[in-house]
Amino acid sequence: MMRRAVVVCAVAAALSGAAGGAQSPAQGPDYPTTPVPMTSVTFADAFWAPRLETVRTVTIGAAFRQSEATGRIRNFEIAAREATGEFCSRYAFDDSDVYKLIEGASYALQVKPDAALDGYLDTLIGRIARAQEPDGYLYTARTIDPSKPMAMAGKERWSNLEHSHELYNLGHLYEAAVAHYQATGKQTLLAVAARSADLVAKTFGPGALRYPPGHQEIELGLVKLYRVTKDPRHLALAKFFLDERGNPAGHKLYGEYSQDHKPVVEQDAAVGHSVRAAYMYSAMADVAALTNDSRYVAALDRLWADVVLRKLYLTGGIGATGAWEGFGPAYDLPNSAYAETCASIANALWNYRMFLLDQDARYIDVYERAVYNAMLSGLSLKGDTFFYPNPLLSLGQHERSPWFACACCPSNLPRFMLSIPGHAYAVSGNRLFVNLFVQGTARVAMPGGTVTVEQQTRYPWEGDVRIRLSQAGAGRLAMFFRVPGWAMGHPVPGDLYRNLAPVRDTVTLKVNGLLVPIRLERGFAVVEREWAAGDTVDLHLPMPVRRVVAHPAVKADEGRVALERGPLVYAAEFVDNGGRVTNLILADETPLSSEWRPDLLNGVVTVTGKASAVKLRHGATLSEPRPLTLIPYYGWAHRGRGEMAVWLARRPDLAKPEPEPTLASASKASSSEGGKSLQGLNEQYEPADSNDHTAIYFHWWPKKGSTEWVQYDFPAEASVSETAVYWFDDTGQGECRVPRSWRVLYKRGDQWLPVETREAFGLAKDAYNTVRFTPIRTTALRVEVVLPADFSAGIQEWKVR
Ligand SMILES: [Zn+2]
Repeated sequence: MMRRAVVVCAVAAALSGAAGGAQSPAQGPDYPTTPVPMTSVTFADAFWAPRLETVRTVTIGAAFRQSEATGRIRNFEIAAREATGEFCSRYAFDDSDVYKLIEGASYALQVKPDAALDGYLDTLIGRIARAQEPDGYLYTARTIDPSKPMAMAGKERWSNLEHSHELYNLGHLYEAAVAHYQATGKQTLLAVAARSADLVAKTFGPGALRYPPGHQEIELGLVKLYRVTKDPRHLALAKFFLDERGNPAGHKLYGEYSQDHKPVVEQDAAVGHSVRAAYMYSAMADVAALTNDSRYVAALDRLWADVVLRKLYLTGGIGATGAWEGFGPAYDLPNSAYAETCASIANALWNYRMFLLDQDARYIDVYERAVYNAMLSGLSLKGDTFFYPNPLLSLGQHERSPWFACACCPSNLPRFMLSIPGHAYAVSGNRLFVNLFVQGTARVAMPGGTVTVEQQTRYPWEGDVRIRLSQAGAGRLAMFFRVPGWAMGHPVPGDLYRNLAPVRDTVTLKVNGLLVPIRLERGFAVVEREWAAGDTVDLHLPMPVRRVVAHPAVKADEGRVALERGPLVYAAEFVDNGGRVTNLILADETPLSSEWRPDLLNGVVTVTGKASAVKLRHGATLSEPRPLTLIPYYGWAHRGRGEMAVWLARRPDLAKPEPEPTLASASKASSSEGGKSLQGLNEQYEPADSNDHTAIYFHWWPKKGSTEWVQYDFPAEASVSETAVYWFDDTGQGECRVPRSWRVLYKRGDQWLPVETREAFGLAKDAYNTVRFTPIRTTALRVEVVLPADFSAGIQEWKVR
């Protein structure tokens, strides 16, 4: 696709952030583009600066506390023989969460000194060092008791690399070690990493073990380590692990799930686990740059096209299915979307590296889409709860959580988010790239001297960006200002998504107040001149509300429209739209406007218009006008649980009518102690089967063997003679089954009496179990169940007539 030369890096400026380690090794091949390190960039805007401050002051501490509470840190203590016990968290890869948090905390120390955090890291690193075995082996899941390693670990060292995450953990250790060294100058963790890498270099190689890791990551860590140590073994190992993938001469292949189905240079379709894939693609870019291997680059071009043309969510998320946390077939993009937070991060890391290789703005376009939407949805505004999947449609079953048993996403967010300033600017010879629009300043080392760039903008809410060079004298300089694809009528590179109507407003560029024609080079507006201090550039990026539609092959979005404004994807949420959104129709001709709402979600621009709401009344489908309000997607799920949709129906047949009110839907639901998600009983979604997870279901898990109940309190006394229960049963996934038995009770005074019936209380799966009984007048009804001895139970829907 692209011609590209990987050239010897002329700029010896320090690399930093996700892509770089420390100094570029002298004179070897490298990326032709050098990021301006995060330490030279200050964000002083109203969008990112407060979010990053929240990560620094809230998220990192909360995640360390969770790591302590869940045994992740205690595992190191036990391995260091400072405590006794067994491996006490859930997964063998739990070590990696601690490493990722150290990396994030190190970036926080670069932003602002923090003696308490610095000291906490020193203590933790001391413990990690003592948990390392004398020959450099570091993996608490085995070291704690080598005679009885935990199940994932495999009996012997490195014997179960497909699943053990032994090398995966080390990749995060190396990234953390480099970050900590760069932030503090201390070599404590770096020494641990170097000892570990020595062992890995002795153990793996052409004449030794030839197993690649099941989960890629060590390749990225080794490249960062190489940038600091300049030890050629570290780079060679990164390349070795990539090249052993798909090579049956060295090991029995793991298959597509781990991208181990064919050699990386022959891969042309994104398959399998999406985090593994995008970490691998990122490492391939690094190794391609550092070894000048054009075969890697050709494979990356094919893989990138496959993702961006066929497998990318509008939000920039990747990974359609939770079944293997990964890619589905081409154009298979259900809005139940897995779109793991880590996968959005990985997608951004990969696209950033593609930019460093190619200097093409389209990669930053994809980066921006992933970062402002799918990734940012992963973290609450308060910074202490997280999403793992980031769906584009919710029926109310989603809520951010303070932690997960598998906590990859919460530990990944701090390190990634705090490194975003390091992605804003880049340099290549006398070219200075302005990739991201964020108010603040950057000090940029150019070949002719240091330049200070000052940005004034209210981006992403407004598209006017003023860039002022407040220090110059660097001679002739070519400034490259990214012109986002969305501002030029192309929401994404390729045809996966397109604007429904052309955007009329045009991008303009002024230099010192005078309009200049835009000279576009690979998506950048280029202004090359002798700059004087105080020179300004004004970039105007029009930000109308845009209607976006998907490629016709994306069945999930057929007949639907999504709204975007600037880099943000919008979502309709129940709370702003009369309680539901799946029943709304947005006609193509309806005008839409935007409004700044400082009071909402820490300040957002909302999109408003008029929709038609469809509902069933007395057997007929009615449609009525309703005001429509959308919020930026990243801000969803902050105001309670309910429906959310990115893709709205354009046609009446795609709207799901609001059901007729029933006695059940008008009732107040309650349950015996421990029951969860009462809303699921009477929210009137017809389940497809007992194991349907698309709507909210009620359950008593983890209760087992006991007698439990659910209750409807009617709005007024009513006559009832029939009830129907659709059991929830998640055999194969969870511990809910149909109950052992059940009965129906009604309230008379203070008493609960059984209804009179000769019918059986059914226990069928995948169907309503209906019981008719002698009519009674009452104010409340109960379903009482006896749970199976070893299982719990749940209810998809409970109806009353
Ligand atoms: Zn994750």
